[in-house]
Amino acid sequence: MAADARRQAGRQARRLDGIPPTIFTRMSALATLTGALNLGQGFPDEDGPASVVEAARQALAEGCNQYAPGPGVPELREAVARHQQRHYGIDLDPDTEVVVTTGATEGIAAALLGLVDPGDEVAVLEPYYDSYLAMIQMAGGVRRPVTLRAPDFRLDEAALRAAVGPRTKVLLLNTPHNPTGTVLTREELAVVAEVAVEHDLVVVTDEVYEHLVFTGHEHVPLATLPGMRERTLTLSSVGKSWSFTGWKVGWATGPADLVGALLGAKQWLTFTSGAPLQPAVAHALDAERGWPAQLRDSLERRRDLLVTGLGEAGLTAYTPEGTYFALTDVAHLGWADATAFCEALPGLAGVVAIPCQAFYDDADEGRHLVRWAFCKQPDVIREGVRRLAAAELRATP
Ligand code: PMP
Ligand code: GLN
Repeated sequence: MAADARRQAGRQARRLDGIPPTIFTRMSALATLTGALNLGQGFPDEDGPASVVEAARQALAEGCNQYAPGPGVPELREAVARHQQRHYGIDLDPDTEVVVTTGATEGIAAALLGLVDPGDEVAVLEPYYDSYLAMIQMAGGVRRPVTLRAPDFRLDEAALRAAVGPRTKVLLLNTPHNPTGTVLTREELAVVAEVAVEHDLVVVTDEVYEHLVFTGHEHVPLATLPGMRERTLTLSSVGKSWSFTGWKVGWATGPADLVGALLGAKQWLTFTSGAPLQPAVAHALDAERGWPAQLRDSLERRRDLLVTGLGEAGLTAYTPEGTYFALTDVAHLGWADATAFCEALPGLAGVVAIPCQAFYDDADEGRHLVRWAFCKQPDVIREGVRRLAAAELRATP
């Protein structure tokens, strides 16, 4: 039964009103159904390090199969604390300032449920990752988008200040940013910090792409800026940087009161996250610490392959500074919107991409933007852009 029909039948709770099914599931199902090449949902077609898989196998075989402690196994919380210290000089108490989550997705949900009261406003970068929309609404919060605008998708101070007011409780940040590929600069983050301090905001910062940042750019965790450690809850996960998106192991770090609020909600969502994967993720963070940099280098080559190939197919991409996504604007092809284009694309070219309308309140701003993933083998990217170049992509009148 479709969502609208369930609603009319009176069975679905109002908190889900207006939240569409996730676009990622929809477009991956379309790829499976049509056999099209999937350049849509962001998951790599090659797994992370073999030694990490082996560590998980061992944990399973050695009986690490009962509930982990609620905040996560100490081994992983300690490894996360070491990771934050090694990369960013952030000191954390692994007992009170680190919580393991079921992917960053649960981190986002638990942070919002633990911090936002009904009617509180949440300022959020737009385009936003789709779970932000769902979880702000489920928490009873009110979304206040701060739009990053083409062609460079920078953070505009005036837009940020306009979105923040007396009812704002949380600023939900994402850098490196999905889907634009923007990596916020130290200067932009200084503005965020200034506004957060001025309005006494908590900042939840989703940094799942922290290690996937390309030449000439740098990831600066917001928590390292003066005055921000005590008001910043940082989320990350093993999915992107170590190519284990299916493991759904993430972590939240920050001051004990914010991490405690998140844990207060998390304990009722999942109680605790999958036990045998946690020691394996600790192994990834410590023993495979060089792996994300190799992935980043290879992704940078694949980014260039995709961006060049899209250009040759008549789709000019905005070159991303980080993440594994690139955006193109398809307005010139005559489609009513990006959704119509992406729905037709498997038939036209045998390729799946993600329409970005679901990531916007401002319908006009996102109407013609399409997201392409380049976390795929070079040959898959080559074949994808070859198909696009060979296809007639213009809408038929
Ligand atoms: N935040 C962003 C911006 C993402 O792109 C993703 C990717 N799935 C997530 C959160 C979710 O991460 P996880 O798979 O660890 O739940
Ligand atoms: N984060 C990935 C993407 O943006 C996968 C989707 C998801 O985790 N829901 O495509």
